[in-house]
Order: sequence, then structure tokens, then C-alpha cells
Amino acid sequence: MRRYSVFALAREGLRHHSGWDRAWTSPAPKSRYDVVVVGAGGHGLATAYYLGKNFGIRNVAVIEKGWLGGGNTGRNTTIIRSNYLQDPSAAIYEKSRSLYETLSQELNYNVMFSPRGVMMLAQTQHEVRGYKRTAEANALQGVETEFISPARVKELCPIIHIEGPRYPVLGALWQARGGTARHDAVAWGYARACADMGMDIIEQCEVKGVLTANGKVSGVETSKGAIGCDKLAIVVAGHSSVLAEMGGFRMPIESMPLQALVSEPIKPCMDVVVMANTVHGYMSQSDKGEMVIGGGTDGYNAYTQRGSFHHIEETVRALIETFPIISRLKMLRQWGGIVDMTGDRSPIISRTPLDNCFINCGWGTGGFKAIPGSGWAMAELVAKGEPGPLAASFGLERFREGRFIDESVAAGVAH
Ligand SMILES: Cc1cc2nc3c(=O)[nH]c(=O)nc-3n(C[C@H](O)[C@H](O)[C@H](O)COP(=O)(O)OP(=O)(O)OC[C@H]3O[C@@H](n4cnc5c(N)ncnc54)[C@H](O)[C@@H]3O)c2cc1C
Repeated sequence: MRRYSVFALAREGLRHHSGWDRAWTSPAPKSRYDVVVVGAGGHGLATAYYLGKNFGIRNVAVIEKGWLGGGNTGRNTTIIRSNYLQDPSAAIYEKSRSLYETLSQELNYNVMFSPRGVMMLAQTQHEVRGYKRTAEANALQGVETEFISPARVKELCPIIHIEGPRYPVLGALWQARGGTARHDAVAWGYARACADMGMDIIEQCEVKGVLTANGKVSGVETSKGAIGCDKLAIVVAGHSSVLAEMGGFRMPIESMPLQALVSEPIKPCMDVVVMANTVHGYMSQSDKGEMVIGGGTDGYNAYTQRGSFHHIEETVRALIETFPIISRLKMLRQWGGIVDMTGDRSPIISRTPLDNCFINCGWGTGGFKAIPGSGWAMAELVAKGEPGPLAASFGLERFREGRFIDESVAAGVAH
């Protein structure tokens, strides 16, 4: 595939953009592949990409029931950070964040990574203690974060009301190299690179069953017919339990709606990402000027990509307390995605009870940031049949052994 460059742009500009290659096509499936990846979200596409790049496995199909990137990958608020508490989490999220730093160059596709800095506000004494502890843990893990004062918070983000009526800002956990990226571009960039390696990305093709022979996976039944494979990678976020059931095993996952909204565009007023976990809302400003806003998950399990109205009200109310400046903004759009929650709020990158079938899920409300690192670790697991150091702690067996990687109560953070 021809490289994107300033020269290519100039050349195509002169001939009415008639010479660009298609970034990827959606071919009819072949009868057999070495690896079938189910789910063309960021994690599935990144898995395929690193299978090809790191292990030379290129006879790969990525199968998607809808359109590429139409799941949570195209619905999230794009926060990227790696300031997690536990060592295995910090390792995989920091690997991911560092891959983001050069992802545009690597994929020859502008993913618009913007390391503008992420701050997580401490608005109770409990959060102050928790974030100071995380900053210390991050120092030991080699993740650059610091606990900053309320004055520094105000300096970095002047529109914050630090003496709020209910919860004044007492400081923040600040990661200067955290930020955002363009979510669609991450999916499109990986898809283009996979297609360039000769992989098939098959859209509008729903997996309806998992085929087995002699206790091993042998293929998948899809809306476009049966497709054989030696290895199967299930990477379907909110639908992990559904696919697992097809494979004859159960997952410790709950699927829940999580929603986000954007305001009308306004002039630049905020060049960092702010997360306020006590009042529960987070906000950043997109390049178009919209305020991108997210809140918490709904309190029930569902597969509707919508979310409930009262959550919008609660999230907006919480953010108005923190940013009174947004009180008169009109909200333009609201949407939802289905996130896959585990009990310890850590992901699963694992073999399954079905031989040669692997699963990657449980990223919950915070998996966009993990896409490159997760794809890297999953590709290693699928290629070798054994997890490498990044994935080793995230096996399914931890739920049986009670060896949780607690990023929930202990870390007290989301997204
Ligand atoms: C509103 C919202 C805000 C978020 N904010 C952030 C954030 O700020 N930062 C962050 O890091 N994370 C965030 N997340 C989480 C993040 O979006 C997800 O963790 C991540 O995108 C999951 O990616 P994925 O590739 O695993 O899943 P998806 O992108 O959902 O891809 C899975 C794909 O599998 C397909 N599929 C499902 N079933 C089948 C089937 N039977 N056959 C074929 N294909 C199938 C789906 O159609 C889908 O395209 C947010 C999520 C939401 C919903």
C-alpha cells in the first residue's frame, strides 16, 4: 500500500484525490485461516496487527458483525493514562501508553495522539491518601506521575472551581504524558496496516457459533458461512459472555451500558483532561472545540447501546459543580456503549477451557488506552499458546484462585 506523506498529499491534491488506495476492503471469507480474530474493535485489530508484525502470522481474518470500530472503540472518550496502582496493570498500561507515543509513525496513519496531560482530582481526604499512594507506587513502577497541589491544579486548568460547594479540590494525581487520541483513527490505522499485510477484515459478518473437533476449536459459524481456523481469538468487549457461551464456557463478566456526551463547540478553554471521580464526571475538549463528557456505568446489566437518562443528569450536575463555566452549554449528542466489567476491574487476557481458543476482554470503562499494549500481549499469547510477561497475571484462573488485581476499591479510579 502506498505510504501517506506530504508528497503523496500534494500529488493527490493536484489530481482531485483520484489515486488513493482503499485503506482496507471487506472481502468474502476464505475457507480457512491460521487465526480468526472475532471483533474488529481496537483490541481485535491490534491483536491481528502484532500477530503479523511480531510473529509473522499473516493468514489472519478479523471478523466483525457490524462496521469496523463501531463498538466501544468508536464510542469512548479517548482518555489515555497509565497511572494504575497494581504492578501488572501499570506494566501493561504503560507499555500501551508508550506505544501510543509513536503509533502514528509506526502505522503511517495520524492517530492524533495528544499527550496533553491527565489529572485525577482528589476531592476527599480518602482520595488524597489514595492518589499519594498511587504516585509512590508509580514511582517504583517507572510510571511518571506526581501528586499536585490545588494551586497547581488551578494553574493547569484555570476553568476549574477549586473551592466547590460540596467537594473542594484538595489536589490531583497528574500524569503529564497522558492524554487523548482520535479513537476512529486508531481502529482505521490498525485496519489499514493489517490489510497491507494481506489479512482479511470481514465486516457485516456475525459469528453465531464456535465449531470444535476433538476438544479443540476448529472454526466459527458465521452469517457468511463456516470459516475454519487453527486458533480463535475472541475480542468482543461487551459481548464476551455471549461468545464464551458459544464456546461452552462461562466468563466472570457483567455487560453494562456506559455513556458519554458532547457539547456544542466553543473556543479553546481547557488543554488537559480532568477526571473528577468523587462527583463522577470527566471532561476534555476535542480539537473541534466540543467538551467531551463521560460519567459512570448504569447500575444494571444490559446490551442496549444507549444508557439511562438519569445518568446524563447526574454527570452534568457533577461537572457543573466542578466547571461552572459549562452550565449554559448546549449538549449536542449522547451515546452509549456496552462495557465488560470484571469484579476486580482488571482485564482478562487468557487461554480458555477450549483448546486453541483465547479471550481478551474485561477492559470495562478503560480499555481504549490499552489497545496497543493489549494487542501486543494478546498476539504473544495466541502465537505462543502461553502468556508473555505482560499478560501473565491476567489469566482467567485468578478468579478461581482469588488472586485479584484490584483496580477497583484499592485504586478507586475509572476510565
Ligand atoms: C462511553 C464510553 C467511554 C469510554 N471512555 C474511555 C476512555 O476515556 N478511556 C479508555 O481507555 N477507555 C474508555 N472506554 C472503554 C473503551 O472504549 C473499551 O474498553 C475499548 O474500546 C474496548 O475495545 P474493544 O476493541 O475490546 O471493543 P469494541 O470496540 O467494542 O469491539 C468489539 C467488536 O466486537 C464486535 N462483535 C461483538 N459480537 C460479535 C460477533 N458475534 N461476531 C462478530 N463481531 C462481534 C462488535 O461489533 C465490536 O465492533 C469507554 C467506553 C465507553 C462505552
